[in-house]
Amino acid sequence: MSARYSAFQILRQGMRDGAGWAPVWRTPEPKKHYDVVIVGGGGHGLAAAYYLASRHGIGNVAVLEKGWIGGGNSGRNTTIVRSNYFFPESARLYDLALRLYEGLSAELNFNIMLSQRGLIQLAHSDGAMDLARRSVNAMLLNGIDVELLDRQQVREAVPILNFADDARYPIFGGLRQKRGGIARHDAVVWGYARGADALGVDIVQNCEVTGFNIEGGRVTGLETTKGAIGAGRVGMAVAGHSGQLAAKAGFELPILSYALQAMVSEPIKPLLDTVIMSPTTGGYASQSDKGELVLGAGLDLYPSYGQRGNLVTTRTIMAGLAELFPCFRRLKLMRQWAGIVDVCWDYSPIIGPSPVEGLYLNCGWGTGGFKAIPGGGFVLAHCLATGQHHEFSAPFDLKRFETGALIDEAAGAGIAH
Ligand SMILES: Cc1cc2nc3c(=O)[nH]c(=O)nc-3n(C[C@H](O)[C@H](O)[C@H](O)COP(=O)(O)OP(=O)(O)OC[C@H]3O[C@@H](n4cnc5c(N)ncnc54)[C@H](O)[C@@H]3O)c2cc1C
Repeated sequence: MSARYSAFQILRQGMRDGAGWAPVWRTPEPKKHYDVVIVGGGGHGLAAAYYLASRHGIGNVAVLEKGWIGGGNSGRNTTIVRSNYFFPESARLYDLALRLYEGLSAELNFNIMLSQRGLIQLAHSDGAMDLARRSVNAMLLNGIDVELLDRQQVREAVPILNFADDARYPIFGGLRQKRGGIARHDAVVWGYARGADALGVDIVQNCEVTGFNIEGGRVTGLETTKGAIGAGRVGMAVAGHSGQLAAKAGFELPILSYALQAMVSEPIKPLLDTVIMSPTTGGYASQSDKGELVLGAGLDLYPSYGQRGNLVTTRTIMAGLAELFPCFRRLKLMRQWAGIVDVCWDYSPIIGPSPVEGLYLNCGWGTGGFKAIPGGGFVLAHCLATGQHHEFSAPFDLKRFETGALIDEAAGAGIAH
């Protein structure tokens, strides 16, 4: 593995023209058998592998990725992190993730570029302000740092928003979480990969899982494009492809897959120093360190595996954001893309055992699982190591769709990015 990163290393390697940097992780061929195999080399799969090795001492682990690590949603998202969810179960899990994020650069010795610049969710009507008040009260009871802002406070924080009397989306106020912000998505993936690799985890790219070997109701291994691989336990963290893979294991998941879009503008000088979300328009914006505005949309309207997104959604979101930020109107968009996200009926994730013994799930993060990566990986690792739920993952068991104990964050928090 590469040496520990430090200012001294940068200086040293700079003087050697960078020739001394080692690959950040190995490129191993898969072994015949592992204690644990994790399907999916996104943030959740890699984080689970890292925590299995670092917290549970289980290093005989493989992460199998059909493409390249981070090539799924973990490398396609708009990088927003926050923990201001409505229900206590969600707040606990997402705040665990945010707390882990806060120490992650130091823990992994890899700069994930966490920028806690705060996040403001706008309210555009009296009704939305009532909902914001209700949310703030619930979140404060959950121990989350949020505050209610009135119109003037939003204006002081983000003067470039449209405060005209005839604005189509008048701003009544909003709620703010100051610990929210953004982190570099690729760095999160690469940092966990480097950390896991250093602890002995095999990260196998270009290795698609094509089937499950199941004996007497228990998973014993996987069929892959690199041959059969035996496994004591299997974790599945494949986001938008969860439904397809579950079908190969012989069960159904209450998940639909949709395209979720984002885009970036040409780079401009710094003008937006917080994250703005507008549930009414479905759009949200932040500014990257390069100066590009990172703009996000709501879901495309129909389930799809087409990883492009459709123009109607792009136009709708751009129209809303141009109304909100008049100074954005003449900017050019440089890139647009989509990822396939896995949406549960209650917009909350599924974590824990599946109907197949030894096969554990981490999916259903929908439009908002980047912020959850450290927490989702942490509790999946716990399930895989112990065969038992972590207390934070128990409410998110698949069985809630039988018992009716849903955690409806679509209704509760209202927005899920
Ligand atoms: C445009 C967009 C914007 C978003 N913005 C935000 C945001 O601002 N904040 C936020 O919190 N969340 C956001 N999200 C959601 C977030 O990106 C995801 O919830 C999160 O990245 C999911 O991580 P994951 O590890 O579960 O999945 P992924 O990163 O998608 O990883 C799953 C991996 O599994 C692999 N795979 C699939 N099938 C197989 C197979 N058969 N064999 C082997 N490998 C397989 C895939 O190739 C993929 O790499 C956004 C998503 C998108 C698309």
